Amino acid sequence: MDKNKALLIIDYTNDFVADDGALTCGEPGQKIENKIISLADEFYQNGNFVYLPTDTHIKDDKFHPEKKLFPTHNVKGTKGHELYGKLKTWYDSNSNSELVNQFDKTRYSSFAGTDLDLRLREREVTDLYLTGVCTDICVLHTAIDAYNLGYSINVYKEAVASFSQTGHVFALEHFKNVLGADIL
Ligand code: ZN
Repeated sequence: MDKNKALLIIDYTNDFVADDGALTCGEPGQKIENKIISLADEFYQNGNFVYLPTDTHIKDDKFHPEKKLFPTHNVKGTKGHELYGKLKTWYDSNSNSELVNQFDKTRYSSFAGTDLDLRLREREVTDLYLTGVCTDICVLHTAIDAYNLGYSINVYKEAVASFSQTGHVFALEHFKNVLGADIL
């Protein structure tokens, strides 16, 4: 058991993954569900941290920059904001563990305006393992901040997805060639 690893499961919510989600990746997002669950189990059972940064909006927020870019999504208190499918069950079963934490974020990066960096440093986590959606938006922005903050970055290619296949492919190349990530 080494304690210096954390799995990040980014934005794996109904609005981003379910067929009727407001901003859904659809099938590519649904296909990574089992891989995410098996990674969550593996990290948890090995005593590593499992964090779930979750895009969160308040209803009718006229100041949010995404307002101009995307339809309303991930509004706190709605089904769209809840974790998708088996991950919701997984989280509900394990959320009382000190290894597991879901937290709201309001920007693409999991570090923007959150205590993620402080939390990781307190726990001496140095290596991040990224999963979730979308590869080229929230996973990418999280990876860029992780790079700038000095973390080692790993990305599970079978546990990230996007509604844009072009964006997905671009982001995987960028993780590897520009952010020095290991693609697993
Ligand atoms: Zn959003």
